[in-house]
Amino acid sequence: MQTVMTINGTEVARRRAALESILREIGIGPIQREELEIEHLADPLDQIQSNTDRDIAVLQLDSKTRRIQEIRAALERIEDGTYGSCDECEVPIGKKRLDALPWARLCVTCQARQESEARTSRIILDTAA
Ligand SMILES: [Zn+2]
Repeated sequence: MQTVMTINGTEVARRRAALESILREIGIGPIQREELEIEHLADPLDQIQSNTDRDIAVLQLDSKTRRIQEIRAALERIEDGTYGSCDECEVPIGKKRLDALPWARLCVTCQARQESEARTSRIILDTAA
């Protein structure tokens, strides 16, 4: 018999508060809207620098947006009572894993499988290219 430490109601409430505070923190991140606007500069070198800054800002915004989506999804799972169990195999996600990644959607096993599948398809793509 496998003993997995599952999370109880108090834990869920604590994690919801943690997720909400992370969401607030990233929600008011350092990225300013102006950084995403394309500037037209007279000097081509300035133009390149400006484009690079913009690319970095877009990348940061992109990963921030993804994280916000993950956290929102985790909060929704708290609402519908599915939080803390794996999306794929429905086993409870370990407490330690939720401590490290409160927005985790998959158990370690499913996560590892998904990552190795992603790697395999990348290898196939590389070979095909
Ligand atoms: Zn799983």
